[in-house]
Parts: sequence; C-alpha cells; structure tokens
Amino acid sequence: MGHIIDTVANLTDHRDRNALVDTLLSVFHGLLGASRLTLWNIVDRRGSMWIRRRADFGSPRGDETQTSAPHPGNMLLPLETFGGLRDCFYSKEPLCRSAGPANGVRYVFPVMDGQEVIDLLEVTRSSPLSHEQERMVTGMLRIYRNHLGILDYGDCDELTGLRNRRTFHDSFARLNYGSCSEKCGELRTCCGRCPYLAVIDIDHFKRVNDSFGHPFGDEVLVLFAGVLRECFSDHDRLFRFGGEEFLVILDHVTIDEAYHALESFRARVETFRFPQVGPITASIGYTQAVAGDTGASAFGRADAALYIAKQSGRNQIRSHEMLVADGLIQGRIAVGQDVELF
Ligand code: GH3
Ligand code: MG
Ligand code: MG
Repeated sequence: MGHIIDTVANLTDHRDRNALVDTLLSVFHGLLGASRLTLWNIVDRRGSMWIRRRADFGSPRGDETQTSAPHPGNMLLPLETFGGLRDCFYSKEPLCRSAGPANGVRYVFPVMDGQEVIDLLEVTRSSPLSHEQERMVTGMLRIYRNHLGILDYGDCDELTGLRNRRTFHDSFARLNYGSCSEKCGELRTCCGRCPYLAVIDIDHFKRVNDSFGHPFGDEVLVLFAGVLRECFSDHDRLFRFGGEEFLVILDHVTIDEAYHALESFRARVETFRFPQVGPITASIGYTQAVAGDTGASAFGRADAALYIAKQSGRNQIRSHEMLVADGLIQGRIAVGQDVELF
C-alpha cells in the first residue's frame, strides 16, 4: 500500500511532461515486471488518425532502454495498420492478445481524456496480468491523465488552446543544443539542424475588431491558431504570446526547412477565408537560436525582424540573420543580452 502511495506521489511530482512519461513507464515496469512498455500518442490530422511512439521502456530482448523525448525519427504511422492499437482506440477498452509463442501476451490500454482516447499504452509480457494488475494499470493511467490535465490547464491559453506566454521561457530553456541528433554532438556541426524561433503577428488586426466587433476578432484568433496547428508539425511548439501575436519554436530544422515551414504558413493564411471577416495576412520575423540564448534574447532578434517585415509592407517573412547580412539591421542581440519582455 505504502509502495503504491509513493508511486502516485512520484508520478504527480513532475511538471515536465517528458519526466512524467518516463516515471509512468518505470512505475509500470516496477509494478508489473513487464518486458516491454510503449506509450503511443494519438494524432488526429483532419479526421485521419495517426500514432507516434512517445516513449519506450524495456526491449524485446529484455535490456532496458528508455527514451522519452520525441525525436524526428519517431515518425507518424497510420493507426489503421496497427490492428491491436486500432481496435483499442475504437473500442476505448483495454485489449489483450497473444503476442506469439515467443513473446507472451500483449495488452493495449487506452488513456482517456473524457470520451476521447489521447494515448495508448502497450504492455508486452511473458504471462497474463491478474485482474488486480489490470485495474492498477487503468487507475494509474487515470492519475497520469488527471495530472497531465492540471499541467495543461496552467500552461494553455484559454482562447486558442495553444501554450501560453508563461510556458515559453521554460520551453525555450529546454531546447537541447548539445544533442542535435544521435549522430551530431554539436550544434550545426554536421547535420546543419538547430532550433529557430519565429514571431508571428496578424496584420491590421485592430481593423478586424473595429469593423466586425471583438467576438469576431476572437473567432479569427481561434481559427488562426487552427491554421498554425495544421501547418506546423507536432514537434514544433506553438504559443499565443499575447493579443494577436504568436510564437513558434521549430526544433532541429535546417535553415531551408525553417524558411519553407514559415513561408508555407504565411501563404496558407493569405488564402484562408475567415468567416465574415474574409482574408487576413500575417507578418513573421525569425531567428536561429544559438547556444547560450535565452527566450528573451532570441525573441528580441525575431521581433526586430518582424518590425522590418511590418515596415516593408506586411504579409512577409524576414530572417534576422539575413537582415544583418544585408546591413538592414544591426548585429545580433548578444547572447545573454535580454530584451524586456514583460
Ligand atoms: P499591425 O499590422 O501593425 O500588427 O497592426 P495591428 O492592428 O494588428 O496591431 P495593434 O497592436 O495596433 O492592434 C492589436 C489589436 O489586437 C488591439 C487589441 O484590441 C486586439 N486584441 C488583443 N487581444 C485581443 C483578444 O484577445 N481578442 C480580440 N478580439 N482582440 C484582441
Ligand atoms: Mg498585429
Ligand atoms: Mg501585435
């Protein structure tokens, strides 16, 4: 009993989602002696369902390896092609199947958010779980989900559901410059990938409020956030920074990938028709994050680039580094030299 209470306390200690997931899987591993545990995220892409491996604990050979950080290698896979995961997703009930003579039994448990399945936990072990163990897994997943809900509530912008301004600095600080990829130990030394920060600001948004009223302005913000979600990948972090200003952290991308992701978002906004309001546009400033940057110093550079985009006619994207190279703005805001954000 005391052990279970300790377990729940360990689980709810975390504010960091990766650490929370790691603890969840290690807790199950300890309690169930499972040979392999995998947590899958469900991703809904305009009605078509995909899964992504979120974290693993254990391996088919029994050597324990643990990964929680989403990595570009963790591809989106079509849910339909994974029979057990698919059946559990649609039935919303735990499922148990034979994993073949060599592998024992495979369970899939849904992680529910209200009526919606948000994750799937796959457990493979040599022998079946007892009824008590199954109940414990289900109960522990509810505690996990409830704790995640509390974290989300504090971290989300109420109107758009994107992360809020408060979470930006923490998120930025967690960017891992030192592990660009498994092959590349240093930032941009071999694969040329690194984080980028973009500031996105809706053009002439005040006119929307003035012409159509504040509720229509709010609806534009909600739909705009939807376009952001649609255009950027699940690895990118999206924030509503305030009013009609949004931030995107693109992690582990090349300079060309950063440009194309932002440019296709700008073009998508330009062609999107907002009900009643019609077309709107957005201006974007972006910068490459460098080792030693703070959220504030990177924001300062991206915002300076945004300012030029606005001055140059709006509905365009500008890179801080290119503006410096072209002599249009002064050199980079020094690493560690923060601008006042609040
Ligand atoms: P620019 O192209 O230079 O960015 O012009 P703008 O009109 O978009 O920028 P400005 O800063 O002049 O106006 C932003 C407006 O956004 C003013 C404010 O009333 C409105 N706003 C801020 N937060 C909200 C919100 O939550 N809902 C609505 N509807 N409007 C908001
Ligand atoms: Mg604006
Ligand atoms: Mg603004």
